[in-house]
Amino acid sequence: MNIKPFESKVWLSSPTMHGEELEYVKEAYETNWMSTVGANINESERIVCEKVGCNYAVALTCGTAALHMAVKLAGVKQGDKVFCSDMTFDATVNPIVYEGGVPVFVDTEYDTWNMDPVALEKAFELYPEVKVVVVVHLYGVPAKMDKIREICKRHNAVIIEDAAESFGATYKGAQTGTFGSYNCISFNGNKIITGSAGGMLLTDDKEAAEKVRKWSTQSRENAPWYQHEELGYNYRMSNVIAGVVRGQLPYLEKHVAQKKAIYMRYKEGFKDLPVSMNPYDEENSEPNFWLSCMVIYPEAMCKQVRGEQEALYISEPGKSCPTEILETLAKYNVEGRPVWKPMHMQPIYRMNPFVTREGNGRAKTNAYIAGGTVGKDGKPLDVGMDIFHRGLCLPSDNKMTAEQQDVVIELVKKCLR
Ligand SMILES: *Cc1c(COP(=O)(O)O)cnc(C)c1O
Repeated sequence: MNIKPFESKVWLSSPTMHGEELEYVKEAYETNWMSTVGANINESERIVCEKVGCNYAVALTCGTAALHMAVKLAGVKQGDKVFCSDMTFDATVNPIVYEGGVPVFVDTEYDTWNMDPVALEKAFELYPEVKVVVVVHLYGVPAKMDKIREICKRHNAVIIEDAAESFGATYKGAQTGTFGSYNCISFNGNKIITGSAGGMLLTDDKEAAEKVRKWSTQSRENAPWYQHEELGYNYRMSNVIAGVVRGQLPYLEKHVAQKKAIYMRYKEGFKDLPVSMNPYDEENSEPNFWLSCMVIYPEAMCKQVRGEQEALYISEPGKSCPTEILETLAKYNVEGRPVWKPMHMQPIYRMNPFVTREGNGRAKTNAYIAGGTVGKDGKPLDVGMDIFHRGLCLPSDNKMTAEQQDVVIELVKKCLR
């Protein structure tokens, strides 16, 4: 197959608009509800509650703001350790630090690429005082919430779900965003439903929802003047943004179906290659398939070394690596991305504790970071690092055609030939 670069870029995940968005934005404009109050906000909150099955949704400027509010609700104070997923976007973790908390990273499992319940149990052995756990559903794949909930209950810990990537995904029939006490979704530009920006805090706790409504609008007390008893934030969603969200929400199911078709097409296309897709619990969960990812089998990896800013690899017949595949895709005007670099490997969080199934994972990891290669036995030193080494995100755009996707599949095959 003679492949030519695409004239217009094939995106990882770009906004997919339908027309209604503009109508609701126009309505906000024409009725002059241009601030942080209005029908678009109220309706978006109502529809999200209905879709997710939670009692309260509070529309905020972004998912990160929702996570910040969740961390406050959970009562995280200066110096408190908080367990959190390790392989994720830094927006999961930073809000803990905004409140003075200390993130303790819990290693990833191969089954779902989410927080490993075995490592979580280990983390409670090492740090029994911890009272808050932040769990991500990575790339739209639900974490093993039964086990995680059971462990947290036994240790009296509050769960915060970061469902920013998993809006519309279910675990044992319940939507993600209903398993924790305080949960978040995001309407960032590349998420499955977008407002161009925006996010929501989800909860069943009325008092918590009321607190977030107050905190997010500068914590005004009920007085004729600006009266303040608590620290405030300017985190409320604009009614204009909410117009985009409101117009998008009816398309959630359609977007999920499109994303699923993309995932299945990759799966089929790669079936004879030494790679697998990002896995999920097929019996108990239905992901939203936000991003399709692949991981190269260890035996099919060519040599790849990553420093802090650059990557190098040595091309080998029959083998490849994420760097080679991503560079190849880029040459053909296709956007891919490495999987999230684990938080315990990030310079900013290098001093934070990290717990694997075996306990403290720090000594080995720091040796790895210093040396920049796999361990002496040739084996990776922790699961997150291993998936980061071998995995990548494939273009998963709703508007990608089957023909375009076939070309992407062919390019991956070419790298592994
Ligand atoms: C996108 C994202 C967020 C943050 O959402 P914003 O709306 O961009 O602030 C948080 N966590 C994860 C895992 C995300 O992917």
